Amino acid sequence: MLVTLLGTGDTTGTPTVGCDCDTCQAAREQGIDRSRFSVHVENEHTGESILVDLSPDFRHQFLDHDVDLPDAAVITHIHFDHIDGLGNAYRVFDDLPVYAADEVDPQTGESVADTVREKYDYLDTVTVHDVAPFEPVCVCGLELTLVPVDHPPLVCYGLVIEDPETGAKLSLSGDTSYDVPDASRERLSDPDLFLADGIVPASLCASHPIGGANHDADGVPRTFGSKHMTREGALALAADLDADTTRLVHTAHYYPVEEAFEEPLAVDGEQYRLDGNGVSRVDTRRDTVGSR
Ligand SMILES: [Zn+2]
Ligand SMILES: [Zn+2]
Ligand SMILES: [Zn+2]
Repeated sequence: MLVTLLGTGDTTGTPTVGCDCDTCQAAREQGIDRSRFSVHVENEHTGESILVDLSPDFRHQFLDHDVDLPDAAVITHIHFDHIDGLGNAYRVFDDLPVYAADEVDPQTGESVADTVREKYDYLDTVTVHDVAPFEPVCVCGLELTLVPVDHPPLVCYGLVIEDPETGAKLSLSGDTSYDVPDASRERLSDPDLFLADGIVPASLCASHPIGGANHDADGVPRTFGSKHMTREGALALAADLDADTTRLVHTAHYYPVEEAFEEPLAVDGEQYRLDGNGVSRVDTRRDTVGSR
């Protein structure tokens, strides 16, 4: 399984347009991009690939990175930064199966699958497939399971992608607070590679209107506001799950510049091979293996 991080930023990305904060300036100077969230997962036995979330930055992600267009896609939730790239399916794909959860969201009165189906009804090339949480489906020869996480007020799903041939396991937290339900934690646990939402460092909770939540024994908030994990929360969840390698994704330009490019914060273009015996980093951007 070859995993390429196409988009590792939050909803505005880094650099953020119109922003001249130290972090955005440093990103521009160093040619670092954290575009809106998307992950490309290739089954190297078959050459087929799954795209996790359809980023508004879809076009430049596929121009900038040497990966094939996906054979299927999965959508975790209906926020702009995860769904709006689906408009790119027009005239680019002959057929794009899109997998999404079938549970009705009390907030919207419909499931993620229904929202995608309605919003992109005009695209004949998109076929939406309903998926029940916790029930694995076989997509591109890989086993894909959606698990509910906590991203109020909308439903949102984390994801497990496993290779039945090698036993390689990729887990994604999805956009979530630290308050991930136990049954989902169980399913996400023990991944070779864990991609965790770590939007800001815990220190920034002081500037959030509702502060932080899910404090640890030392009083450090593991949730920023109510929707996302802090860096500390994401690392705590990674430890809870006993992840082998962890990368923090969905990160914001609010990270102070001296912390924004430290390990284990991911940047666009990182690529990992999961072969069932562990994880190796294969892109040439940095010659380090992802830190634990
Ligand atoms: Zn900025
Ligand atoms: Zn979201
Ligand atoms: Zn998001």
